[in-house]
Amino acid sequence: MHNDENLGRNTKAIHTGLDPFRFEGAVSVPIYQSSTFAFHSCREGAARFAGEEEGYIYSRLGNPTIDAMQEAVAALEDGRFALGTASGMAAVSTLFFAFLSPGDRIVATRSLYGASRVVLEKEFTRYGIRPEFADTSDPAALERAVTPGTKLVYVETPANPTLAVTDLDHAAKVAHAAGALLAVDNTFLSPILQRPFRHGADIVLHSMTKFLNGHADVVAGILVTRDPALHARLASVLHNLGGTMDPHQAWLVHRGLRTLPLRIERAQANAQRIAEYLAAEKKVEWVAYPGLPDHPARRLLGGQMAGPGSLMAFNLHGGVEAGRRLLDSVKLMVLAVSLGGIETLITHPASMTHAGVPAEARREAGISDGLVRLSVGCEDYEDLRADLEQALRRV
Ligand code: PLP
Repeated sequence: MHNDENLGRNTKAIHTGLDPFRFEGAVSVPIYQSSTFAFHSCREGAARFAGEEEGYIYSRLGNPTIDAMQEAVAALEDGRFALGTASGMAAVSTLFFAFLSPGDRIVATRSLYGASRVVLEKEFTRYGIRPEFADTSDPAALERAVTPGTKLVYVETPANPTLAVTDLDHAAKVAHAAGALLAVDNTFLSPILQRPFRHGADIVLHSMTKFLNGHADVVAGILVTRDPALHARLASVLHNLGGTMDPHQAWLVHRGLRTLPLRIERAQANAQRIAEYLAAEKKVEWVAYPGLPDHPARRLLGGQMAGPGSLMAFNLHGGVEAGRRLLDSVKLMVLAVSLGGIETLITHPASMTHAGVPAEARREAGISDGLVRLSVGCEDYEDLRADLEQALRRV
């Protein structure tokens, strides 16, 4: 019953992976804080290693607490398999190690989370991998970039931090026509608002540090698949390279996951109102939020995107200096990197999350020096607005 595909989002988030009778009746999954698991006999140990018998061996290869969380994320994403990782970046690098070999091209979204871009440019190029960054939100630019030598198309949508949105049905068509896989970083919307497998993605990944956990107390990631061969390839690389997660980390994420739909609903309602407020403010030059009428993603709302989410970018008249003044003046909103938690976070990508990306590449990707990124949380709207009002008065 708990893994019934037809269950609603709230029910899945609350019950999947949590069948109490699998764990001695415990209603919360116990934390199996054990690095290794005993065998009854040599024969049993050998059979588990050979994959002939089910059972745990060693926590880098599998653990009941981690498995329960993985089942829940796979169910929410409409996937079949999931692999928890030590961080979002462990998921990203495992993906690249699994599917890229020397000489291969990868086409990635130009406005990408800073470290995902840096790892391609600074680390994977050392192994002969050729990254190309394209404006994947522009169908023609994506078509130009993806050539027959492309092995992987890697899309972040909405992208960090510009909120540029890529049409996944189109990206899947272009990737598959070239014989490439499509991997989607779904961190910004979560499976509550976007399920990339429905639009042709082969692999979906998350920084679970963000919405899936949602409480700013864990760093974690996940790789989700439907195809057993893709899962087996990722599992082999992850288990051998060792970017796996810890049972306690998995337990915290699973606890956060149970309220994911509630948190998303609440944060998104706040974000819509905050975006409308900012868009009407004289000191604000522009606001990028998929829920505003002028955002190009509007056409994907109700289809690929069930909602606009709770992240936005904006620029103040007065650029960097004005932005700094605003960030230094907020009292309730927290000046910190990261996103997707119950608390509202405000940050300056050019000097923080994307500081490792060269200034020219940032400009090309639309990350202006004055851009402020806001991750709206679950507080009361009136308090968030009052905080912005008092901070804007100081600008
Ligand atoms: N992907 C996106 C879109 C992110 O925003 C981040 C982190 O901010 C990551 C991946 C990396 O995740 P982590 O910080 O959990 O390693």
